Amino acid sequence: MISFHADRSHAAAVPGSPSSEEARDFPSGGIRRCDRSDMGDPAMRASNRSRHDVVIVGGRVAGSATAMLLARLGHDVVVVDQALFPSDTVSTHSIARSGVVQLRRWGLLDAVLDSGAPAIRQVTFHALGDSISRPVKLKAGIDFVVAPRRYVLDAIVANAAERAGTDVRPGVTVTGVRRDGRGRAVGVYGRDRVGAPIDIGARYVIGADGLQSRVARSVGAAISEVRQGDGATQYAYYAGIPWTGNEFFVGARSLAGVFPTHDGQACIWICNPSADAKAVRRRTASRAEAFGELLERSAPQLAERLRRARRTSPVSGMLRMPNQLRQAFGPGWALVGDAGYHRDAVTGYGISDAFRDAEFLAVALDQALGSGVEETAALTLYQQQRDQALREIFEITCRLAAYPAVPAFIELQKQLSAAIDKQAAALAARPVPGERLLATA
Ligand SMILES: Cc1cc2nc3c(=O)[nH]c(=O)nc-3n(C[C@H](O)[C@H](O)[C@H](O)COP(=O)(O)OP(=O)(O)OC[C@H]3O[C@@H](n4cnc5c(N)ncnc54)[C@H](O)[C@@H]3O)c2cc1C
Repeated sequence: MISFHADRSHAAAVPGSPSSEEARDFPSGGIRRCDRSDMGDPAMRASNRSRHDVVIVGGRVAGSATAMLLARLGHDVVVVDQALFPSDTVSTHSIARSGVVQLRRWGLLDAVLDSGAPAIRQVTFHALGDSISRPVKLKAGIDFVVAPRRYVLDAIVANAAERAGTDVRPGVTVTGVRRDGRGRAVGVYGRDRVGAPIDIGARYVIGADGLQSRVARSVGAAISEVRQGDGATQYAYYAGIPWTGNEFFVGARSLAGVFPTHDGQACIWICNPSADAKAVRRRTASRAEAFGELLERSAPQLAERLRRARRTSPVSGMLRMPNQLRQAFGPGWALVGDAGYHRDAVTGYGISDAFRDAEFLAVALDQALGSGVEETAALTLYQQQRDQALREIFEITCRLAAYPAVPAFIELQKQLSAAIDKQAAALAARPVPGERLLATA
């Protein structure tokens, strides 16, 4: 298991063993094509030098999912992350139907539910003085969504990667990508948690290191598309009152909401243009006061309910969220998750994007590593699949993040819901990477 050093207040919430669903689907922790004994000389490991098929920088939803799938496909993978797990990251965390489909297909959904994240079966929209509640319909085999805290979700995926055979190394900061004489990425270097130098060689270097990706900067990955992006999302946790499901409050130049999560708490959030968030912050004494005022203005019904609740966390969030795509690969490297594609959080879709693209990338790398498919062909297909799959929701996200008038905003929300259902159905129909090997073992 990953060593749990950080943020001890969260440690008890993290499941420590495979769920029954995982145990059923992956009884041996994954079938390996390679022998663990050829994963590198122990002397090299001890001296912080090693060589692998794939090194992944960043061990949250994008990095650990890619690692888990590659390891299940039999590859020798190491994941490094400067963070220790379990630990939180700045993000609200409702997982869309398509992301829930991925968790189920990969055998991780039971672990998420076992962690105490409630299955959310009702969604309520409040707009223009009306409130409409609907059950989450059964589509793509899923009739609920879920909003696990990131310190729980990320650890579940990282633990699954480790159980499949990935060498997960928390507390390792990568400072650069090593290139050979022809410019091909051949590994990464950096330092471990005590400051000792680390040098990891690999046939492929994957940047799953988020928006500010060090890997992307080191290899000079070009930003291939930039759209206007000036959205803000702020959030805090509240306890002490009942929550009926996910709720969305559409206001003028704002979207606020409720995501029920562990321990009877809910993540309360608000998205709006950064200029609006900053203007309120300038004339208030604290982030908490500014957050309260934004909610009061944009979702007064919610603000009224929260007067009976207790805020259990500081207010967190992000301003000026970019909408951008980076080139997805180059010689010996590829990007996945926010490192390659970032979008405003107004659609709450980054985790689902990361899960989808992790699978596309793992399959492409599997082909390049072992199935005789030429690297450029495999990784070009990855980039094409990513760019095609993200397009519809990216366009909707950019339009929502411009905060059009409320009727247009509501129409875009309907389009978003249909686009997510379409993507969930497409993912549900795919073969599960590693499943065939497991079935014939
Ligand atoms: C305010 C906000 C709200 C959001 N709400 C939602 C939501 O409700 N639903 C949803 O689906 N998405 C949401 N998102 C988007 C979602 O959080 C991201 O899309 C998702 O976290 C991307 O995952 P990732 O694995 O690509 O990157 P990250 O989660 O950013 O993880 C990157 C990892 O790389 C590590 N790293 C970085 N640099 C280095 C280095 N040099 N060496 C070693 N390690 C390194 C970091 O420590 C980190 O652990 C939200 C985002 C924000 C900002």
